[in-house]
Amino acid sequence: MTITNDIIVIGGGINGVSTAYHLARHGVQVTLIESNYLGGGPSGLSSAIIRQHYSNPVTARMAYDSLSVWGNFPEIVGGEPVFTKTGFLVCVRPEDVAGLQANIAMQRSLGIDTRFVTAHEITELEPQLDVREIGGGAYEPDSGYCDPVEAITGFAEGAKRHGARILSGVCVTGLQVQNGRATGVQTEQGTISCGALIAATGPWSTGLFEKIGIQLSIITARVKVVLYRRPSSLPDHKIVADFVSQIYLRPETGGLMLVGSISPDEETGDRVVDPDHFNDKVDIDTIANFAERAAQRYHAMLDSHVASSYASLYDVTPDWHPIIDAVPGIEGLYLCAGSSGHGFKLAPAVGKMMTKLVLDGKKPDDDINLFAFDRYEQNQPVKGQYEYSILG
Ligand SMILES: Cc1cc2nc3c(=O)[nH]c(=O)nc-3n(C[C@H](O)[C@H](O)[C@H](O)COP(=O)(O)OP(=O)(O)OC[C@H]3O[C@@H](n4cnc5c(N)ncnc54)[C@H](O)[C@@H]3O)c2cc1C
Repeated sequence: MTITNDIIVIGGGINGVSTAYHLARHGVQVTLIESNYLGGGPSGLSSAIIRQHYSNPVTARMAYDSLSVWGNFPEIVGGEPVFTKTGFLVCVRPEDVAGLQANIAMQRSLGIDTRFVTAHEITELEPQLDVREIGGGAYEPDSGYCDPVEAITGFAEGAKRHGARILSGVCVTGLQVQNGRATGVQTEQGTISCGALIAATGPWSTGLFEKIGIQLSIITARVKVVLYRRPSSLPDHKIVADFVSQIYLRPETGGLMLVGSISPDEETGDRVVDPDHFNDKVDIDTIANFAERAAQRYHAMLDSHVASSYASLYDVTPDWHPIIDAVPGIEGLYLCAGSSGHGFKLAPAVGKMMTKLVLDGKKPDDDINLFAFDRYEQNQPVKGQYEYSILG
């Protein structure tokens, strides 16, 4: 088959479906191609914590803008609600309080509802949280988490309502480039032509671009999540990002607590894997270790039981920020990948950015310049208070 489209988006993760939705809303004829099922990659297994705490004004603003989409999803995109508001606490050591307060000031200047809380005030907000070794925190009352599958489905359905075509179970085997221009994709079922091509292919981006001789600075790290059954003495809790014990704790429906790591070393280290062949199981030591760290904060968790666990993937760049840009030297080819373990919450803003980039091009003062394709070669990585970590 040979089909012609205005724009092809490769990848049905949260960034692909958000981009397809925003393009379709602008009247673009768009086809999204997903090799698996929608959300079959890391997006579908995301912890999908929606917080606004970033140390960079650009990403903080993206998170702030995106929160209003997540919180009003049926009105803005359509479909079912996808967001649960829980409140979000970042807790830091005493020596990190000054940096945290500077971040909070920056975030408040953007309009984000966040405030500094002392260790004592944390216990007032979250009485069961043991604040030992915590110097203070930031509290965001409006933050929470998404149901990742509902969110992906919602954007995909929204895209379809605006005329987008979605092909699931179709693998892009190659990018077609002729005379320095992206002209389409090869798939197992034939070629599909297009005017422009956006790869939102997460951890698979590096392999896909290698085929056209482009080396990306994106590695794939295996990350683990464990769900524990909360005892009845802990009926609910806020989302906590604990910089002291380097874990995040998120309530999950069904009386569960979802626990993952926020340590960059723990998340990358020697865990660089092949996205098509990795161990998606969690070892017993990690299950015990996460349980111990969770119970240090919430003592009630000493009586918890493991409910389930899984490992998935982060696509990580050297500065833990995404690449969202046109690919230099190939007209009509764009990359949106490397979201480095914190990209779910930003997807509404990323979809808008990608759409503006493809339809209007870049201006010198656009936020998207931060995520330039060639910033590592130019020695201009993204810098923030939390140098290179998942909290960005
Ligand atoms: C365990 C875990 C917890 C996380 N927690 C959070 C969190 O709390 N908050 C947050 O903001 N972020 C979080 N993240 C990060 C966030 O989920 C990711 O940044 C985001 O989902 C990336 O989305 P994506 O669309 O860029 O990529 P992906 O989800 O990787 O999607 C890429 C898609 O492209 C498809 N694809 C690849 N190659 C091809 C091809 N050749 N042909 C066709 N299709 C192809 C894949 O099948 C896949 O579906 C977490 C991630 C994980 C794994």
